[in-house]
Order: sequence, then structure tokens, then C-alpha cells
Amino acid sequence: MPEPTPRDGTILQIALAAVEDAAFVCRHVQRKLDALRAMTKDDASPVTIADFASQAVICRALSRAGALLGGMVAEESAAFLKQPEHAPHLAACVAALRESGVWPHATPEEIVAMVDLGAADPAILNSERGGWTLDPVDGTKGFLRGEQYCVSLALIHRGRVEAGILGCPNLPQKGVATAPRHSATGCFFVATRAEGTAMHLVGETSRSSGPIARQDLSPAEPARLSESVETSHTRQDVAAKIMQLAGPVGPPVQMDSQCKYAILARGDADVYLRLPSKRGYVERIWDHAAGMLIAQEAGCVVTDIRGKPLDFSKGRGLEANEGILGAPPELHARLLNAIAQVIPPQSP
Ligand code: AMP
Ligand code: MG
Repeated sequence: MPEPTPRDGTILQIALAAVEDAAFVCRHVQRKLDALRAMTKDDASPVTIADFASQAVICRALSRAGALLGGMVAEESAAFLKQPEHAPHLAACVAALRESGVWPHATPEEIVAMVDLGAADPAILNSERGGWTLDPVDGTKGFLRGEQYCVSLALIHRGRVEAGILGCPNLPQKGVATAPRHSATGCFFVATRAEGTAMHLVGETSRSSGPIARQDLSPAEPARLSESVETSHTRQDVAAKIMQLAGPVGPPVQMDSQCKYAILARGDADVYLRLPSKRGYVERIWDHAAGMLIAQEAGCVVTDIRGKPLDFSKGRGLEANEGILGAPPELHARLLNAIAQVIPPQSP
């Protein structure tokens, strides 16, 4: 079978099915949060288990289909799972994958081998073959609170994001509240460069999908900001000041993960603003690649806070960029002006 190319439509079908399986396992783990916490005697361990299970499922699906391209640059490293003291985490991964039915005969050795596939050299993302970047559970804190998190997978070719998929298991069909548990199996967003963004709704017994696009805001319409729940990931006070300077302001939404890009894309929020909060922090490519394309292909502009395009050719980090700004075009221009007034660019 010839290897699929980055622009081959079948590759996205394979990737979407993989993200759906990974999201299903994450939901399974999230239902057992308390039991897993008790078993590992560690409050944060359920997200670790979901992280590794999700990464293993996606790497396995892509490699079995011959669709790994040049390789996978994923957030998690198998080093943790290989340590003897973390055997309970590995056992819990095996159980989650088997019990969920996503990988009924998973073994510890195979899981470790699949997680290890995520350690490709990021140079492959600049190559002619291209490759993937994955955040198996983005929004760790949201996952642990039972709120928003997502599985984020993007295809990067010659340093440019060509396709992005976000699996948002707890995002409702409309609005920004947390979906009631067990009500559905999630909202999935798929974008292909120059071809638009689609939203897929996957319920227990039904599926539907359609394109999403959003309008610009008129200068008189109040703009709703979406920002991190974690105050250490942005500067909420400064963001509020920038919003006020740019025009009328609507109620802000605080939400974990790249679900923020998804609600911007479908019009449940108007601005994604991430202001650098810690000197020297460099944004990770897997935290933005899929979300950026999903918002852009729905009609938004996504750049850094100085208006520079996000540069995915620098390795695992967005080394050439400063913060993130996403919004419909006219509002984006107003916000860039406001940012320059509130946070003047550093002189060299
Ligand atoms: P969010 O849910 O939007 O706050 O994003 C979660 C992501 O923020 C995590 O996956 C981290 O990679 C990233 N992160 C961690 N520390 C920081 C920081 N100091 N500033 C910005 N992002 C961060
Ligand atoms: Mg993340």
C-alpha cells in the first residue's frame, strides 16, 4: 500500500477515527477518577493514565494504517511508564484500554512501544514527508475537575500546519457549559488548510457533521474573551484592560485547553488571548497547531500578540512568537492596537 501523502483525504479519516477512540478512552478514565486516585494514591494520576492511553491509541492507529508519515512529535515520553515504581499506572492504562473496548488485547509492552513512537525528531515537521504533533490530553486541570479538555492532533508539513483535529469530549453541541456526563460522546473539529473547518457530533447512537464559519463582529457588538482558567497561563487583569480598550466587552469565558479555539471558531466566544505570564516561557506546538487551524479555517485570524504568524518550524516550541491572539479579522486588528498600547514591544 503506498504511504498516504499529507494532502490525502483518507489520512484525515484515519486520524479522526484515532482521535475518537482516544477521546472514548479518556471519557472512560474520567468516569473512574476517584477509584484511580485511590489506587495510585495520587490525585493527578488519572490524567497521567489518560495521557498515555490516548497517546498509545493514536500512535497505534496511525502506524497500523501506514499513516505516521515522517513520525510523531507528542507531548508525553514513555520514560515515566518504564520506571518500575510506575507499574500501577501502566497496569491502569492496560485496564482502561481493554475495558473501554478500544484495544481489547492491549499489553504493557505494546503500550510502551506505541507511546515511544511519539518521540520523533521535530525536524520531520519541516520535511517533505511531514509528520504529526499530538497533545493526548490538553487541559490537564480541566480533565481533573471534570470540565473541558481535549485530544489535539495536527499534521505539519514543511513547517506549516496542514490539518488539525480537536476531540472535545465534554464540550456541548452549543454554548460553553460543561456537557452533562454520559449525555454524548463529544464534539470533534476537523480543519484542512484552505478547505475549511467542520464540526462532527458523535453521540451514543448518532453522528452528524457540517461546516462551521463565523462572522466578523461589528464595532458596536460586545466581544467575549475566552481565556485560561489557570491564572498562571495568561494575565487575566491585563487581558481585561486590553479588551476594554479595543471596544465593547461581553461576558468572558474561562475554559481549559484548546476547546477555547473551538468555541471561537463556532462563535461561542470572540477572542482567544494568551498573554505571556512567565519570562522565558515558550508555547508548545501541540498546544496550538490544531486549534489555530480550526479557528483560521472558520474565518478567524490567529497570530502572536504582535501580529506575527505562528511559526511551527522551530522545533517543539513556538520560539519565534510571543503569546497568542485569535479573533475575527476586524476585531483582531483592533486588539493588536490595544495590545501595543498596554504592552509596548520590548526594544531590542
Ligand atoms: P490552557 O488550558 O489554555 O491554560 O492550556 C494548558 C496548557 O498551558 C498546557 O498544556 C501547558 O502546556 C501550557 N502552559 C503551562 N505553563 C504555561 C505558562 N506559564 N504559560 C502559558 N501556557 C502554559
Ligand atoms: Mg496541552
